[in-house]
Amino acid sequence: MNHRLLISLICGILSTTFIAAQETNQGSSDSKIQNDGVFVSAKKIKDSLYYLSYKNTNAVAFLGRDYTILIDGFDAKAAPQALTTAGRLSLNPVRFVINTHHHKDHTGGNDYYSDSGVTVLCNKQVYNNIWDDVNAEVLSDLKKQRSELTQAMKSAGKSERGKKLGAKYNRLSEQNMDRELSYPAMTFSDDFNMNLINESILFKSVSKSHTSLDVYAYFENNNVLATGDLYFNGKYPFIDEDFKGSIDGYLKAIDEMIALCNNDTVIVPGHGPIASKSDLESYKRMLEYTQKGVQMDYLLGKTLEEVLLYRAAEKRYPRKK
Ligand SMILES: [Zn+2]
Ligand SMILES: [Zn+2]
Repeated sequence: MNHRLLISLICGILSTTFIAAQETNQGSSDSKIQNDGVFVSAKKIKDSLYYLSYKNTNAVAFLGRDYTILIDGFDAKAAPQALTTAGRLSLNPVRFVINTHHHKDHTGGNDYYSDSGVTVLCNKQVYNNIWDDVNAEVLSDLKKQRSELTQAMKSAGKSERGKKLGAKYNRLSEQNMDRELSYPAMTFSDDFNMNLINESILFKSVSKSHTSLDVYAYFENNNVLATGDLYFNGKYPFIDEDFKGSIDGYLKAIDEMIALCNNDTVIVPGHGPIASKSDLESYKRMLEYTQKGVQMDYLLGKTLEEVLLYRAAEKRYPRKK
């Protein structure tokens, strides 16, 4: 096992909270909506910016002059409440949801938003990842059902049962069409700025970090950064190796984001409490420290199990005072 894989495994397996994460209280407005056991809270960051939280996962709502934009939209269960919560922040409708990456805790609500008339958009590669992740499962199931039906249709011939099976086969094909239609309606390929009244949002795409493609959003006038899962505040990151994620790319992405920040920047991570530039810098130091420690363990010939016994960074990395 090479050390990169070892580090990724460790980051994935350990989920202990070890940084004394300090939540900055940026605003007083706090609304909570409860429905079917789902809570989506909205907290104010700036006049036109809120962050929504559901089970430690965050999304950002920008309240524009004519419409609201969401950065990420939670999973399928939370999407209805998220849309209601965001809808109550402004008289204007939510018009766009922009996915930072393909994981279901950020994109699982896409179908719901599309059905509610909200346009979902994402990077082309994120679209492909959603397709691979979700559709691979659905398609293989459909393929199996279709081939079983084809066999059954053959033996049933033109009998009444054969006709019923044929109708079922057609329904299955239509289901697949429906799924395709509910995918993000628009994609983009490069970095871009969305220029709005009083705000310009930079959407930056980074390769091979948390997944093969992640996007972070920087609200230039408000000085707010939405990182998606390029930052798990208070936790080790999950590096999705199945989708070409890498710790080196993750650190590079953090460097890039730090360069955009100053001491007043409000950072909304994909998971965990909101943070400042110095929190992100401290997170980067912890990751580098962990990476070096694991590399050393690897050189010393330790196995994954032995490295995990140390609970790595928790013991090695000094807690933030
Ligand atoms: Zn993720
Ligand atoms: Zn996530």
